[in-house]
This record gives sequence, structure tokens and C-alpha cells, in this order.
Amino acid sequence: MTAQTFTVTEQGYYGNFGGAYVPETLQKCTQRLAECYRQYISDAEFQTEFRQLLRDYVGRPTPLYRSEKLSRKHGCTIYLKREDLCHTGAHKINNAIGQALLARRMGAKRIVAETGAGQHGVATATACALLNLQCTIFMGAEDVVRQHTNVRKMQLLGAEVVAVEEGNRTLENAVDAALREWSSHPTDTHYLIGSAVGPHPFPDMVAHLQSIISEEIRHQLLSQTGRDLPDYVVACIGGGSNATGSFFHFMDNPSVHLVLAEAGGEGIDSGRHAASLCCGQERQLHGANTLVLQHKSSDTEGPYSISAGLDYPGVGPLPAHLVATGRAIALPITDQEALEAAFELNREDGILPALESAHALAALHKIDFRPTDIAVLTLSGRGDKDLDTYLQHIHKDVEQEQPIIGSSSYTSVSPT
Ligand SMILES: *Cc1c(COP(=O)(O)O)cnc(C)c1O
Repeated sequence: MTAQTFTVTEQGYYGNFGGAYVPETLQKCTQRLAECYRQYISDAEFQTEFRQLLRDYVGRPTPLYRSEKLSRKHGCTIYLKREDLCHTGAHKINNAIGQALLARRMGAKRIVAETGAGQHGVATATACALLNLQCTIFMGAEDVVRQHTNVRKMQLLGAEVVAVEEGNRTLENAVDAALREWSSHPTDTHYLIGSAVGPHPFPDMVAHLQSIISEEIRHQLLSQTGRDLPDYVVACIGGGSNATGSFFHFMDNPSVHLVLAEAGGEGIDSGRHAASLCCGQERQLHGANTLVLQHKSSDTEGPYSISAGLDYPGVGPLPAHLVATGRAIALPITDQEALEAAFELNREDGILPALESAHALAALHKIDFRPTDIAVLTLSGRGDKDLDTYLQHIHKDVEQEQPIIGSSSYTSVSPT
């Protein structure tokens, strides 16, 4: 397996995927970032500061929790890596704090970022509040309306939110706007990208900053089971930041199966999905050569998923390479399968997962486990943000909730 390297090349490639396909004005930015990132990522002072904030501010290490009920159901041993317990509710804060620290060292006074559903915008605005950086978040005008609460949250944190009116007014256009803004302010501004996507060095940098997840899994698994290598690591994938972070310290261990759960939407034959690993074609998107969904020219809808965090037309170059080389497998999960898996975890373990993470949970049903297998599943975020969607799709059997019987001072609560 050592012949097959999953480390990025000097030019930013994983096999055919990656690179930095950007206009000349942006090349200066990406090259300077690549140099600074290389210098600081192994710098002891940077690492000390980063680790300290991950511990005292984010709440790391996040627990590695063995679920008895999931284990019984799947006939093996299942651990959940609880990124849902991070400050702000998901893994995104790891990357936001890491890049904000790096930006400060590079002399940046201001951060620009894109956001779709608003999760990365909130994580970035949080990191900027903490580290005294100015913050501008670009968001598709359509998303500004759909995700009003997160817009308010970002503003409360002191960030400026800019509605992008171009294209289909969603995430894709917000990324373009943020890249443009970065190229016109190359020295005092840093573009804090939200996933393991974009031009080199972003995919490698984001994977590195999120690799704390697999670093902790190895240590925690060793102390809990006596072995540091699981048989499976399962993660959901939008762009690939929680997945590459969860896989990072296992990529060179071929005995560890890597499983990516992507958004199958209404089914991959329906045309309404965001399964770029299963159905995408090789082309450039946001500065990298990767797998991208090709929508028919008449189809202005773009990618689709019930889960906003997985609703992206492309995927990071590292996961594309992992799947192309057979190192990882990709499983498309439908909206319905994800919803059922979320309800199941909530009722049986008392954990309401993010809809994104629920895709990873549903993937467990598609894996043929042996009784001795140990599987670690990254629960990338918590489900509070998805409560409205969950309530709209609530199970029939849950709806027939038993009335509360007892003292007349109690009123029976029935779901609407
Ligand atoms: C944003 C998000 C994702 C998808 O992003 P990745 O970069 O693929 O990890 C997954 N889960 C949650 C909870 C998210 O907020």
C-alpha cells in the first residue's frame, strides 16, 4: 500500500484530482497561502495555540462512545465519534479556528468565507469573534432567505453577511464571490474555505486541520479496546472535511475500510441528488479538478439533498482519489434512509444527529459486518438545526403519541 500515496504532491494533486486552476490574480494568493501553511502547520507555537483552543474552547477531545444498541443491531461493535458535541454543534469549528489562527500569523486582519446553509458561516463568525478578526460572509441570496436564523446568528457575532445575487443564488455562487473578494484583497484578507475543496492548498490544509478527529479516534480506540485500528471508518460527505479528517490517520492502513455516505436525495436514478462520487464526471470546479455533477443544461435546479450540508455539486479531490483508487467506497443514501436512521438514533440512544450525519448512520445498514468487526462512525454534527425538517417528516407511529394521563393540571400535548 505504500506504493499508493494519499499525500498531496507539491503541485497539489492526489492522482488526477486537485491542482490550482485559478486566474493569475488568485495564483499569488494560493501560492502565498501554500508557503505559509507549510511553514506553520508543523510550527510548535502554532500547534500549541491550536491544540489549546481545541481543548479549552471547542471541547476536545470529543468522546468516542460505544453504542450498545447499534452494536447489537448490526452484529458488531459500533463507536460514535461525537463531533456533535463540539462548540457550535459540528466539526466545522476545528477548521475555522485552525485557519483563523493561520490567517492571523499571515498578517490578515479580515476573513471572507462562503456559506450555504449557514453552518460554516456561523463557525467562521465564531472564530473571528474569538480571534478579533473582521468577518464577511458571502451567501447566495436564495440561502439568505431560507436560512434566516443563521444570518441573524452571524450578525450577532459581528459578521457582515453579503447576499450574492448571481447564478442560482446559492452556495456555488457564494464560493465564486468569496474567491473574487480574496483576489482583490490579497494581503490583508484570508479566504476561510469551509470544506476540503477548492484550489491547492485548501483541500490538504482542511484535511490536516480536521485530522485531529482520526488522531483522537486512534488513541481512544486503543485505550478502550486495546487496538488502535478499527475495521471500518464511516463518515458522511458533502465536500469531504469531516470524512478526510476521520480517515486521515488510517489512509495508509489498508485493513481499515473507509466508507463515504453521500447524498442520494430521492434516489440516484431520480436526477434529484448530490451524489458526486457515484455519478459525477471529472472536471474543474472552484479551482480544482475533481468529480462534479453534470446537470442537463435545461436543469437549473443544481444538486439536491434534504440535508443542506451535503448539497454541493462537487467533492474534494482527496475523497475523489480515494474512491477512484478503490481505497474508499462511496454509498449513496436517500433522504428517506437518512431520516429513518436519525429517528432511530434519537429514540434508541437519545442522540438527535444532524441530517448530514444521519446519512453515515444509514450506511451501516449497507455494510456486511463480521461479529468481530469494530466500526467507528463520525457523527459530524447535532440535529437541533434540522428540527423543523424532522418534525415535517415525523414517523406515523411517533405521531400517535400517547396522551399524558394524570393530574388534571396537565394538558395532553399532541403534535401538530
Ligand atoms: C457541513 C457539514 C457536513 C458536510 O461537510 P463536509 O465538509 O463534507 O464534512 C457534514 N455534517 C455536518 C454536521 C455539517 O455541518
